[in-house]
Amino acid sequence: MKLILYSLNSHNSHNSLNSFNDFADNMKIAILALQGAFAEHEQMFRQLGAETTLIRNLDDFNSTFKKPPSLPLSISPDGESFSRQEASPRGGLEGVEGAGLAIPGGESTAMMRIMKDEGLFEPLRQAILDGLPVLGTCAGLIMLDRNHLGVMDITARRNAYGRQLGSFNTEEDVKGIGRVPMTFIRAPYIEEADPEVEILARVDGKAVAARQGNMLVTAFHPELTQDTRIHRLFLSMVTTAAPDFVRKVRKE
Ligand code: GLN
Repeated sequence: MKLILYSLNSHNSHNSLNSFNDFADNMKIAILALQGAFAEHEQMFRQLGAETTLIRNLDDFNSTFKKPPSLPLSISPDGESFSRQEASPRGGLEGVEGAGLAIPGGESTAMMRIMKDEGLFEPLRQAILDGLPVLGTCAGLIMLDRNHLGVMDITARRNAYGRQLGSFNTEEDVKGIGRVPMTFIRAPYIEEADPEVEILARVDGKAVAARQGNMLVTAFHPELTQDTRIHRLFLSMVTTAAPDFVRKVRKE
């Protein structure tokens, strides 16, 4: 694994992409694409040099994160010959040094329903509990909270802003990054968080960005602005955390 120290605090960091591309090109970011703003995340991660893949159903999930089962033996009807069946393609993490998952903005009730219908709820929950780094934006934040996937020790308050029909742009400090433009669209905020959760930003006193272990959430939509620093922060989490996850999946 290449070790390149990259400071998120460095001035003009959002304009200098090259240093990041050096290590993002060995990363694979899966984007949950059941509905909502997944294409914008895809574009952002690609711009930063990461490989992206869309997760629309359980097959996509398995081919991205699971090693194929050991090859079944097939025996001819007369019992005289046997052969190994054609190998299925290796799990998508072959050759990858870091992997992560992004859950985009959209409509959390719809996303939740489709996730369950597709049989993705448990596998995704388990992968995140196993250490798969995850970025949740807006509805993605809601999906990770106690009342949905139940992986992060936060409670989200949905559609939490009254002003301007709940959609507005602002700018606030994000811990470790600096001032970040923020686009809110019928957004949630974090109403309650356990002490293990680090609150990274507030707007009007309400928590709108947080991190807990390998999980990063924002109530706003960094994928809808030109500022790549939230995605870079996530990729830096993938760099440090995900090799463990990738190793673990390879060993299973
Ligand atoms: N209001 C949506 C929900 O409750 C979230 C909006 C968004 O993701 N932009 O799921």
